[in-house]
Amino acid sequence: LTPVPSDIEISRAQTPKPVDQLAEEIGLLPEELEAYGRSKAKVRLSLLDRLHAQPDGKYVLVAGITPTPLGEGKSTVTIGLVQALSAHLKLNSFACLRQPSQGPTFGVKGGAAGGGYAQVIPMEEFNLHLTGDIHAITAANNLVAAAIDARMLHEATQSDKALFSRLVPSVNGVRRFSPIQISRLNRLGINKTDPASLTPEEISTFVRLDLDPSKITWQRVLDTNDRFLRKITVGQARFDIAVASEIMAILALADSLEDMKNRLARMVVGTSRSGEPVTAEDLGVSGALAVLMKDAIKPTLMQTLEGTPVFVHAGPFANIAHGNSSVLADKLALKLVGRDGFVVTEAGFGADIGMEKFFNIKCRASGLRPNVVVLVATVRALKMHGGGPNVSAGAPLPREYIDENLSLVAGGCHSNLRKQIQIAHLFGVPVVVALNVFRTDTQAEIDLVCQLAKECGASDAVPCHHWAQGGRGSLELAQAVNEAASRPSNFQFLYNKEMPIVEKIRTIAKKVYGADDIKLSPEAEAKIDYYSQQGYGSLPICMAKTHLSLSHMPDKKGAPTGFVLPIRDVRASIGAGFVYPLVGTMSTMPGLPTRPCFYDIDLDPVTEEITGLF
Ligand code: ADP
Repeated sequence: LTPVPSDIEISRAQTPKPVDQLAEEIGLLPEELEAYGRSKAKVRLSLLDRLHAQPDGKYVLVAGITPTPLGEGKSTVTIGLVQALSAHLKLNSFACLRQPSQGPTFGVKGGAAGGGYAQVIPMEEFNLHLTGDIHAITAANNLVAAAIDARMLHEATQSDKALFSRLVPSVNGVRRFSPIQISRLNRLGINKTDPASLTPEEISTFVRLDLDPSKITWQRVLDTNDRFLRKITVGQARFDIAVASEIMAILALADSLEDMKNRLARMVVGTSRSGEPVTAEDLGVSGALAVLMKDAIKPTLMQTLEGTPVFVHAGPFANIAHGNSSVLADKLALKLVGRDGFVVTEAGFGADIGMEKFFNIKCRASGLRPNVVVLVATVRALKMHGGGPNVSAGAPLPREYIDENLSLVAGGCHSNLRKQIQIAHLFGVPVVVALNVFRTDTQAEIDLVCQLAKECGASDAVPCHHWAQGGRGSLELAQAVNEAASRPSNFQFLYNKEMPIVEKIRTIAKKVYGADDIKLSPEAEAKIDYYSQQGYGSLPICMAKTHLSLSHMPDKKGAPTGFVLPIRDVRASIGAGFVYPLVGTMSTMPGLPTRPCFYDIDLDPVTEEITGLF
């Protein structure tokens, strides 16, 4: 339709096919499905065993140039591309997307179901609650926080003997260690299973975690942009947004229920006064966490507007977390599409963060190797990188972004687009540039971007009209991706994980962001020394950096040079398996703007229709 109706109007106008019908079409057995209502279902991991001999399909990563605060359409391109591949080229294909956080949905950006005629439906279910995974993460995370504070209180007020008799209670006159306690004893080098045989010294070592209050690293979380929580301390913990939590990262990186359980147990929550790491297993809470997360580990099956399958699973932010949907969803989808099919997944924000972490963290964890990178660009973002004025969400777009301006477009191509293509090439993967066309783009602007993208090294560059036309508007992209995927890709990691932590951070800063060097705060330096001593030195790096610039300065557009990247602090997510440097002033709890998206969101109590989601 012209003009294109709102995202929610389009979503509502299409009735999704029943999820069991969709499941049958893609080859799932009824017993592999757990329906949540009519249009979404969790998929059991037993599917992976059933299909283990099936060859994987082709693996495509959608990344982007440095975005404006409005979002440039990576989700939209991902969905448009699978619609074109499946519904029009008749190739099996699957989209694997992250579950949106309520932070952006109610904050600045809105939902993440795509937009126009390239959406996941029903978009209101996709954007809000879904199948409850983020709630499970929040519950699990905050259970750990409560366990820490309770344990510190009890250790401070009770003798070794009293603690022991409560931690290992006598049932019918017999004391027994739980399996979690036996695992802790083994790690402590106390290889005894009979509680009565422990010496007083061993009892003291066993019952006292002796957490150093100044070295608790565990945060409480909430899935809301709530800037006031930045200032609040509950017990020893502050607040992060749920999607930046370690448990979210674990959900995204685990490759089985057992792996998730082990990772949850390994999470380090702080350090004891004698300098030893204290884990979730030490707190005795790891089994309960696995129970809280047992359904969350199953990906949720939904569909696009054109009825093609989508997995929605995990939703870490790309700036303050690793920014990619789950390893398990990708693995299941790659089996389901078969050798000639395609799995298209999306890495958050610009290629400098979402894609870098996709390769160095997610691909390291999964062992999967992508065939093609699709790099999404828009004329408006290129103009901003070429010297156009800053834009903010909700404010009217300045004239430069509405009228033709070839010199701003060229400036953006020669700076940011070129740099992001070069970053993808550092990993040896071919790049297809997808120009997500907006109504205001002129033909001359579109032609210029496609020409310059190829001059900058892209294998191909094509305009995409999926937002206005659905899958048929992305046919050219589907053909370009199919063609690029048939060529060999020479994938390589950016750094050897055995390099010292500082060198890994420096490599990302210089080769990916274009920095001259890095500068570590004394706190960051001390933490790196500590993590290296503890044996965590060979973990990959997950930089927490602004997504609005290749540098740490959000207002520096294009491809900034001549800067030194400041590393304020360094954290470690041992269960997730990465070291987490905080760059500049990056905050792990976003805030709301003056007029958040929720002003427009409403419910009709008679029809139960939701309005204002986009
Ligand atoms: P990203 O994944 O890069 O954050 P999205 O795909 O979520 O971006 O798109 C952000 C917003 O922009 C959505 O509301 C979407 O409807 C809108 N949008 C995307 N592409 C277009 C387009 N070509 N024309 C108009 N609006 C678009």
